[in-house]
Amino acid sequence: MLAAPNKNATVLYDHSVQGLAPEALAERRAASLRALLDRARAGRSGFYATEQRFEARPALSGADFAAEVEAHPPFGRFQLEPAPFIRAGLATAGLPHPTPIAWTRADLDAEAQLGARALRRAGIAPRTRTSDCLDGGLVTPGTLAISDALDALDALALPVGPVTNEAALQRAVDIWDIVQPSALIVDAPSLAFLSAKSASARPQTFAVLLTPGHAAELAAPPKQEVFRILSVPPVCTFAAGECRAHDGLHLAEDAVLAEIVDDVAQPLPVGQFGRLLLTALTRSLALLRFDTGLRAALDRSPCGCGETHARIRFA
Ligand SMILES: [Zn+2]
Repeated sequence: MLAAPNKNATVLYDHSVQGLAPEALAERRAASLRALLDRARAGRSGFYATEQRFEARPALSGADFAAEVEAHPPFGRFQLEPAPFIRAGLATAGLPHPTPIAWTRADLDAEAQLGARALRRAGIAPRTRTSDCLDGGLVTPGTLAISDALDALDALALPVGPVTNEAALQRAVDIWDIVQPSALIVDAPSLAFLSAKSASARPQTFAVLLTPGHAAELAAPPKQEVFRILSVPPVCTFAAGECRAHDGLHLAEDAVLAEIVDDVAQPLPVGQFGRLLLTALTRSLALLRFDTGLRAALDRSPCGCGETHARIRFA
């Protein structure tokens, strides 16, 4: 069942998911969690093979995650399905040291769809042109994830690499002048550098990928021209994103379960600020109750954009 039609719903990437009525969304969330816990108990590594209640599990800190991967290389014992991994990268945000993570084909396809959703929410339409200033290669979230998302969205990708100095800017401007992208997809360092530059030489709107290492940027007041995307690569590269209402970041509630908890990982009432835990609901590399280290609150009131998925506010 979908929520009542909203005149803004056309800006949603997938109305059948993003416009689900709150009760239907809650049911879907509960069913996904039950299915995840069944998969986890049956998981081939045995890592999750206990009957422990979900809410009774301790939160998994970044340090716990990195230690597990280090003890059981190359990727720890989090994988629930035997499907082969086809891409690997290095996660760094909120972790004591760079830690390898990996994706199966199904994981990557799901990430691409969530990325397309986040970029559409940021105003990037199919058949438009964008350029990204992200790292390539191993680094997550990087240009590989964005290229997949733009492919799914059917928008043009033009990776130019990080733009954090004059030489890189000049190189980028030379090609932006020719290709004329309408939006830039950036990380925090490129956004900081470009924001301080004249706006005449570059596109006016930004989609910025922020990780748990960017608590201040996530909590800062919104800006009309900047659309923030929360990226927690070990859980979900496109976990949440800001819409044009700029009133919190919509969670991808079909893929990620968010909990706001106190210091002993017990749930707090909706609307209250606490620690943000995320659980990957559908990914093969399943992290349960991953502690982002961020302070946040959830808002389930209707949003002007027509999307029904909860919004996260950061403190
Ligand atoms: Zn919204």
